[in-house]
Amino acid sequence: ERLVDAEVDGDEQAVEAALRPKQLGEFIGQPKVREQLDLVLRAARARGGTADHVLLSGAPGLGKTTLSMIIAAEMGAPIRITSGPAIQHAGDLAAILSSLQEGEVLFLDEIHRMSRPAEEMLYMAMEDFRVDVIVGKGPGATAIPLELPPFTLVGATTRAGLLPPPLRDRFGFTAHMEFYEPAELEQVVRRSAELLEVRTDPEGAVEIAGRSRGTPRIANRLLRRVRDYAQVKADGVITREVAGAALEVYEVDGRGLDRLDRAVLGSLLKLFGGGPVGLSTLAVAVGEERETVEEVAEPFLVREGLLARTPRGRVATPAAWAHLGLTPPQQSSG
Ligand code: ADP
Repeated sequence: ERLVDAEVDGDEQAVEAALRPKQLGEFIGQPKVREQLDLVLRAARARGGTADHVLLSGAPGLGKTTLSMIIAAEMGAPIRITSGPAIQHAGDLAAILSSLQEGEVLFLDEIHRMSRPAEEMLYMAMEDFRVDVIVGKGPGATAIPLELPPFTLVGATTRAGLLPPPLRDRFGFTAHMEFYEPAELEQVVRRSAELLEVRTDPEGAVEIAGRSRGTPRIANRLLRRVRDYAQVKADGVITREVAGAALEVYEVDGRGLDRLDRAVLGSLLKLFGGGPVGLSTLAVAVGEERETVEEVAEPFLVREGLLARTPRGRVATPAAWAHLGLTPPQQSSG
């Protein structure tokens, strides 16, 4: 259980729901996405019709589910929420599609993880608002066409590049969600603190934002842990000192690296002189699985410019030495 994991944790869903912005105007950051989506939704409302299908791509915790709910709210439409992995058979999808109301928003999270037959059914549903329900098996099977009411599909994926082009092409609008700037995360923290009724001074919000890895979900999670600390160990107010001390307890450093991230970076620097070193060797040195190092720790270290993956192995950047307060070995010249 990592405090800085961007995936949602089962028992935080209720508190997350309470912190979700409800309207586009309340949604912080992503200025381009907001502007474009605003146009799409206004135009659809003006036509009195249903909004085009929307594809949201971006890392976990950046607000895809939140935006899908905002789309429904702005259209005054109900929303149905499901996910690719939950739809294994085309029949599962047919059941959902045929029960949609006119104008309803269908949010399909992890849309790249749908089964092939379901995906093919979705093509026709998106384009013609029609599905063929197959009745019977083998040579006697027949396709019964079923008309669907117009609906808006909002698909979410961590990587739009993973989607087959025929599916990608059926979205009228694609939004790429970026990691948030520190100033935007500060606003997220301030807004959430108000909703949670915890007093935060401006530097306290800066401190939490700076450790949130560009991700609102992590910002909100760190805020809740810092709030606990403020209530137990201080007078309930989140200052810079309180936030720093609280996150030290949870081993999240000033840049958002946690124990695992620092172990990987520390081994690379101290045991291998900054590399290059192979992934397997590095993993053994850290005492973790290869996959954990590669999939859990490295993506953020690479994004932060602390580690590079090269054909010869993993290499630390000068910023990595500086971050851990270590001096790189003297390069022998000539
Ligand atoms: P995703 O679906 O991309 O994993 P979510 O929409 O579930 O992310 O967002 C995770 C949490 O972060 C939610 O509690 C949400 O309120 C908050 N959040 C995400 N984006 C924003 C934003 N732009 N402004 C304010 N809060 C946000």
